[in-house]
This record gives sequence, C-alpha cells and structure tokens, in this order.
Amino acid sequence: MSTRKLYATDVLVLSHFDLGEADRVLSVLTPVDGKLKVIAKGVRRPTSRLGGSLEPFAELRLSLVRGRTFDIVTQAAVIHPWLRLRDSLASTATAWYVTELADRSLEERHPAEPLYAILHRAYTLLDAGMAPGRVARWFELRLADELGFRPEIDRCVECDRLIEPTESVRWVPALGGVVCPRHGGPTLQEAGISTDALRVLKAYQRMDAEAIAGLRLPPGVEREAEEAIRAFLVYVLEREPRSRRFLDEVRPGTGATDPRMARSRAAAQSHPSPANETEPGLERPWVADPPPASVTEGADR
Ligand SMILES: [Zn+2]
Repeated sequence: MSTRKLYATDVLVLSHFDLGEADRVLSVLTPVDGKLKVIAKGVRRPTSRLGGSLEPFAELRLSLVRGRTFDIVTQAAVIHPWLRLRDSLASTATAWYVTELADRSLEERHPAEPLYAILHRAYTLLDAGMAPGRVARWFELRLADELGFRPEIDRCVECDRLIEPTESVRWVPALGGVVCPRHGGPTLQEAGISTDALRVLKAYQRMDAEAIAGLRLPPGVEREAEEAIRAFLVYVLEREPRSRRFLDEVRPGTGATDPRMARSRAAAQSHPSPANETEPGLERPWVADPPPASVTEGADR
C-alpha cells in the first residue's frame, strides 16, 4: 500500500451506505489495495460534483486523500457504468450475488488484482447479455480457484484414482470434490452426483466464459451442477450468501422461491443420466474434452 497522501485508483463499487446528512461511505474493491472503505462527502446534496455516479457495480476512477478512518473521495469518473446489466432482474440479482461473494472473500487492504479481474469480467458478461446463471457458475469456479479451493472433479479426493464414467460417486465439498465408491462418508442418496453433472462441472472449470455461454445443457443437469458448485462455495466461504435467496426468487421461468431445487437434485441423483434417455436429440457438446484453459483464458480483462 502506498503512503502517498493523494492517490488515484480504479475501483469496483461493492456496496454503500449513507452517513450523516449528506455523506456516503462506499465499500470498494481496488486492484492494488484490495477492499477498502472510502467516504464521499456531501455527495447526497444536489449540488455535489460527485453526483449520482457512485453506485454499486460501476467501475470508477477515484481520486482520494488518505484519511484517518476512511480515505476521502475528491473526484470520481465513471469508466464502466454497465447500465445494461440492470435491464433484467435476473441479471441484477446475479450482479448482487457475485458482488457479495467477492466481498465475503476479501479482507480489507489486501492486494486483490485477480479478484478485481474476475469481478470486472462478470459485470462485463452480464452487461453483454450472457445468461446470468452461466455467468454465476463461471464466476463461482474462478473465485474458488483464486481462493485456493479448486474442486477436484476428475479424481477421487481420497485415493487420487481417476473416476470412471460408470462409477457412482459422491460430491463432498468438505473433502474438496468427488469421492469414489471405495470410501465411507455420505451415502449416494445424500451426496450422489451424476456423470453428466460432473462433465458440466469440468466444462465450467476449464472453458472460457464465451464457450460456457454457448453450451447446450439439459436443464436438469445444469441445475445439478449449479447445486454442486453452490454447495462447494458455501463450504469455502463458510456460509450461505444472503443474496442467494433473492437470486432464486428472480430466476427466470420459475416464479417465486423454488422448492424444485431440492427435488431436481433428488431426481438427478436417482436417474444418473436423464439426458441420454429422455432427450435423444439433444447434443451433449460438453462430452468432448474442453480446450485447455491456457488457450481460452488469456483474454480476460
Ligand atoms: Zn477413492
């Protein structure tokens, strides 16, 4: 962290709250200084030059003066407003969700360049109209990687054996991924995961966002993969994100809060490969080995 009194930095606005008569405190993410709280004084007065630009999800260029409690914003310019991100409720809810995940993962004043990059990319993808659920999965797995918790999908976490497609395996976030039938632990009923869902997880883990956006997946399998990643994230972050409930409520096509989540997971477990039998015409492009991550992920930011 620099000791200069005056400095400028790009920030992503994570959240804000109002303070006193006219001030606003922002929790922001910066590439170099990580998460910090800054204060925009007088910003809620109509005459303020800082104006209404200090909203969550925007990327701003801030000029700041170091202060005793909070650094003080002296100038703000919007770099990316990502306005289209707010066009749909599902997209907005997903932005809140990834923002909360990032916020929860960060300590104040720790360098956070990689996290800044993936959050920036998530907003950009949402703004470009990528399906919010796919953006969320992409982000969740990148976040897990950045936090040093890359889930094991190919090999049994207990014996390091390569998982065969015919095996009935379980998904155990507390152990770091899949567990083969040779070991104890939760039952298939409690934690079973289908081969198709594992393939989807593998694709999500290794493919770039554009390729993930183009996958054609049976909804049941996609949902099972979603539940598996979310369970993994809850384990990594040690709690359920608050924004998840809102996210589930505004999920497109499902109406209100969704009790089907539990049911779809149960169904997916009792029928390991429903897509094969019931939807013969459906392509399963994720079956092919995805390209190595190094080929597709160089273009971030
Ligand atoms: Zn094993």
